[in-house]
Amino acid sequence: MTDYDVVVVGAGPGGSIAAKTAAEKGLDVLLIEKRQEIGVPVRCAEGVSKEDLEKFVEPDKRWIAAEIEKAWIFSPDETKVELSAEKAGNEVGYVLERKIFDRHLARLASKAGAEVRVKTSAVGLKRENGIVKLKIRSLGKEEEITTKIVIGADGIESKVGKWAGIDTTLKLGEIESCVQYLMTNIEFESDVTYFWVGKRFAPGGYIWLFPKGDDAANVGIGVMPSIAEKKAKEYLDDFVRKKFPDGEIVEVVVGGVPVSGGLKSAVSDNVMLVGDAARFADPITGGGIINAMKSGYYAGITAYEAVVEEDYSAKFLKKYDERWKKDFGKKLERNKKIQEKLLKMDDETFNKIAKSLEGMRIEEFSVKRLVLEIFKKYPKLFWDMKDLIF
Ligand SMILES: Cc1cc2nc3c(=O)[nH]c(=O)nc-3n(C[C@H](O)[C@H](O)[C@H](O)COP(=O)(O)OP(=O)(O)OC[C@H]3O[C@@H](n4cnc5c(N)ncnc54)[C@H](O)[C@@H]3O)c2cc1C
Repeated sequence: MTDYDVVVVGAGPGGSIAAKTAAEKGLDVLLIEKRQEIGVPVRCAEGVSKEDLEKFVEPDKRWIAAEIEKAWIFSPDETKVELSAEKAGNEVGYVLERKIFDRHLARLASKAGAEVRVKTSAVGLKRENGIVKLKIRSLGKEEEITTKIVIGADGIESKVGKWAGIDTTLKLGEIESCVQYLMTNIEFESDVTYFWVGKRFAPGGYIWLFPKGDDAANVGIGVMPSIAEKKAKEYLDDFVRKKFPDGEIVEVVVGGVPVSGGLKSAVSDNVMLVGDAARFADPITGGGIINAMKSGYYAGITAYEAVVEEDYSAKFLKKYDERWKKDFGKKLERNKKIQEKLLKMDDETFNKIAKSLEGMRIEEFSVKRLVLEIFKKYPKLFWDMKDLIF
């Protein structure tokens, strides 16, 4: 007998969906969160695609800060390319209020029957006789609980994977360094997400503006420290000083995004990793909410099957690897390759590409379409990217 069937470590979007899914299937689930409040502090620009989000949860005005219709991308010389929302990738559609959204998801897990404990950290894990003894610390008190399965949803700082023998080490060049301001007193269109790309703005990343209603927006930056000459904050400060001289900063967020393109395997005996813990953020956009939720769902389903079969071995849990790989694994791999090419691209090339797309309303945006447009203007660049579409 164990205390629980499943213990989920971390109540971000990945952990809450994993706990909800497993609890809905009738498992005994504990969801623990080290912070005293779920969703706080926010370490996110809060953009998600509508379609993907709505597969998991019904939209609710309480946690939707803005609805987005289009995305504007600016090259280093500020040539504008306009994309319709559905085609612009994972980071447009809704801008969330994650403080409320994350809590809502945890509440759904609780409603499904999961026990939720905040201010409770996982501090160590060992396996004995085919089950896990998980050490947790709650309000200064340590205790050991037993479980059949641990789902590590403990984000970029994940320890669960390391404890379980999964190599989650991120190399320099696999972590995007991010800073974000919530700004007021600035001008923007409230149904547009803005992106500024190229080394001039953000080496190895981009600057974003995501509206949060009419009077505030997230303005942030992600840079690749391995090629940046200054700190992320210095690039962002230069930008906001010029672009929004009267803007007021009312909140500051700093954080890292794992952009390594996913682990080869996110399982070991009794353990599965989801979301950022498994390095599932998109290597180009840095978006990780949807993949965290998807992987949480797959981990929850696989946990249920493992409990039914009474088999918690890595060999059985490989089903989870198969599921996430079939869904978004290929895209992670492909976008990692594109990211490597983008890192080498100079600003002049970004400008040329933007010029070739300028004025075109890209309703049918896709990597294939983009690469074909580039081919028309820059055959040489095409040869460099052709393997990404064929
Ligand atoms: C500045 C910035 C902007 C971003 N913008 C976007 C965006 O616009 N769109 C998008 O899709 N993604 C964005 N991301 C990425 C996104 O935030 C993550 O991919 C997403 O939150 C991952 O979800 P998760 O559930 O895997 O982990 P997290 O949301 O990081 O949750 C992990 C949870 O685990 C808890 N935890 C950690 N260790 C323990 C422990 N030992 N015991 C108990 N609990 C623990 C943490 O406190 C945390 O609550 C951004 C990231 C940053 C840093």
